[in-house]
Amino acid sequence: PPAEADVVVIGSGGAGFAAAITAANAGARVVLMEKLGVLGGDTALSGGEMAVPGNWIQKHEGIEDSPEALAEDMLKGGDHVGDPDLVRIVAEGALESSQWLTFEGGVAWKHDLMQFGGHTTKRSLIPLTHSGSEMTTKLTRRARDISAITLLDCTRALDLVRAGDAISGVKVQNTQTGAEFTIACKAVVLATGGFGSNVEMRVKYNPAMDEKILSTDSVGVTGDGIVMAEGAGAELVDMQYIQTYPVCDPSSGALLYVGDVRLQYQAIMVNKGGMRFVEELERRDVISNAITQQEGGTGYLLFCQKGADATGLLETHADEYDNLESRKVIVKADTLDEVAAAHGVDPAALKKTVDAWNAHCKDGKDPEFSYRGKMNPLEEGPYYLMACKPAVHYTMGGVRIDSEARALSASGEAIPGLFAAGEVTGQIMGTNRLGSCSMTDIYTFGRIAGASAARHAR
Ligand code: ADP
Repeated sequence: PPAEADVVVIGSGGAGFAAAITAANAGARVVLMEKLGVLGGDTALSGGEMAVPGNWIQKHEGIEDSPEALAEDMLKGGDHVGDPDLVRIVAEGALESSQWLTFEGGVAWKHDLMQFGGHTTKRSLIPLTHSGSEMTTKLTRRARDISAITLLDCTRALDLVRAGDAISGVKVQNTQTGAEFTIACKAVVLATGGFGSNVEMRVKYNPAMDEKILSTDSVGVTGDGIVMAEGAGAELVDMQYIQTYPVCDPSSGALLYVGDVRLQYQAIMVNKGGMRFVEELERRDVISNAITQQEGGTGYLLFCQKGADATGLLETHADEYDNLESRKVIVKADTLDEVAAAHGVDPAALKKTVDAWNAHCKDGKDPEFSYRGKMNPLEEGPYYLMACKPAVHYTMGGVRIDSEARALSASGEAIPGLFAAGEVTGQIMGTNRLGSCSMTDIYTFGRIAGASAARHAR
């Protein structure tokens, strides 16, 4: 490994790749390191959907939208705890970031959009494979093509090295050999993601997020960058806000992408009693809390063949679907009676609930839960009923940064040479992140951090 670089980027999720490629394109010699043997972080595990107001598909479909509307949704969705200036940068940078992914990264997109909970309109782009790995594999290839980038896997950042207040290097360890060494540098970009996989750290900041709650996250996201930044004098903000995703595998915690029928076409959520209990396009925290209060702490998502066909999600996520079906987490049958019986859900009540839903669809409004999206009836089988539980998905808190992605101390001073982007930062998502805003954030602030770090290193 190189003994020195201009910029060291720690973490190979979307934020890390965006920072490394941008810094290299600005003339810096860059080391991008990842502690795991696999690149991509939670970004690769995610659906990769990206909130982009004013995108080409919205234009094609005649959907009106604006960065201001996205910023408003994000701020409201996070109970106005997010910093309006940072949120505005994310929203205004969205379109350019999506174009950067297309033209710099070679990322391809579906000709379709999703409407996530808490968003006022359909605005989220979907990568071609409906996975964030479409982004991280393409960005890996791009990074390998750029000679100014040295990509190191199995390389864990242990600590930041400082000369006075300023960052002067990173102490690292090869996770295969155990060997430790130092890479001298002028700037560091922390892109280490959140701390969803670190139960001890979760409980330290939010005692409710204990080991009983599973996690959707990569084993690599253990808050290392947050701890290193704190050690270098950075301020941590919003650390208590930890998001659970409502639709996860009850036994593994994996996020269930088959459940995206809810966001792309139609699904309703019921409890063991066969009753709806929450608006299906509510915020993740609201749905999660509502599920937790139902019998068995479990929700059941119901959709029909038409939804499966319209979205193609059972084919896109065929491995996941087969696995869920073999374990009876999802049950497919011709009648509501059969799917209900398989999960011990009250069949008569479920039928009544579906009849009521279909009647609401005809009226075009949902007097029970004020469903905000387009309402599609569930009139014909086969039906699918899927059990789900919330699992830890995203940590809203982290390092405080300014508009140039500089890490700030409690007194608001920039720590010379220290930059941060992505889930490792706080104050953007407030108390609760809306779906598909993470991609918008990591590629926008990742690129800003890369540019700032390269400038600082000059
Ligand atoms: P983001 O969405 O903000 O880009 P991700 O979760 O996608 O974040 O990626 C973060 C990556 O950083 C993960 O792959 C994780 O394994 C890696 N990582 C975390 N801590 C360290 C560390 N100390 N050294 C190197 N890589 C790290």
